[in-house]
Amino acid sequence: MRIAVLMKQVPDTDEVKMDPERGTMIRDGAGGIVDPLDLNALEAAMQIRKDGDTVTILSMGPPQAEESLREGLSLGADRVVLATDRAFAGSDTWATSKVLVAMLEKIGADLILAGEKSTDGETGQVGPEVAALLGIPIETRVTRLERVGDEPAIEVDCTLEEGILTQRVQLPCVATVLSDINVPPLSTLAGKKRAYSQEPEVVTAESLSLDPGEVGLEASPTRVVRIDRPKITRAAEKFLAKHDEELEAGLNRIVEILSDCAL
Ligand SMILES: Cc1cc2nc3c(=O)[nH]c(=O)nc-3n(C[C@H](O)[C@H](O)[C@H](O)COP(=O)(O)OP(=O)(O)OC[C@H]3O[C@@H](n4cnc5c(N)ncnc54)[C@H](O)[C@@H]3O)c2cc1C
Repeated sequence: MRIAVLMKQVPDTDEVKMDPERGTMIRDGAGGIVDPLDLNALEAAMQIRKDGDTVTILSMGPPQAEESLREGLSLGADRVVLATDRAFAGSDTWATSKVLVAMLEKIGADLILAGEKSTDGETGQVGPEVAALLGIPIETRVTRLERVGDEPAIEVDCTLEEGILTQRVQLPCVATVLSDINVPPLSTLAGKKRAYSQEPEVVTAESLSLDPGEVGLEASPTRVVRIDRPKITRAAEKFLAKHDEELEAGLNRIVEILSDCAL
């Protein structure tokens, strides 16, 4: 089985600051890490992997993403391929998915694993868009993933709000995972050495046979109009009870407030 894992470099959220005026992340100077759910996706691949299978990490991002993606090599992936090109700048999720699909078509994949949503963009659109562009099924919110014997199929548990949906699906397909699916291991020293004995492969718009008009800002049908952060206000009342009557009045007021909140 050829397994592809989509992996995105995201800012290390401990280091990211917000622009209070624009409500956007200030990415400059923030360190990059692998999107945490993508490590769950990779671990899911490693758990079902058999002899003869390949696990390839695919990413679109800036050249400095290479360093973060090495973590995937240290955790056992066979290859890392990074699509990086100035032509990809300004890509929305659709344009990002088109580049990932061009990579998938080039390397070939039976099972494509991704995180349910990233910690920065957080749209949760890339997995479904990749499946739509490839015309193949998708399983989302996956919390268990197993092979079905030697059949070209997988069985998954999808955790929904009101229960767990167990499904079998034929390959090729896409599956996006939640963190409950597994606990990704930490890289070992041997793994880290392995990650530096191999270079991530780099592809460009030209090597993927993508026209500049098909990628980047020009090919992005969506524009961010505004980003608002929700304002959370808390109406608070303070009670100072110096004697029993005040204590009773305070308690009565609490009961009143709770009654108003009750459905
Ligand atoms: C209008 C618009 C303009 C934008 N312009 C820019 C810009 O100029 N510069 C910029 O850096 N970002 C830009 N972005 C953000 C960029 O489009 C997203 O980072 C990217 O498309 C992925 O979206 P997401 O993080 O919401 O992915 P999600 O759908 O939340 O991610 C789910 C999963 O998909 C996979 N995935 C997502 N992105 C990638 C990737 N790049 N490579 C491999 N796997 C991936 C991962 O497995 C991830 O866990 C823009 C977004 C929009 C909507």
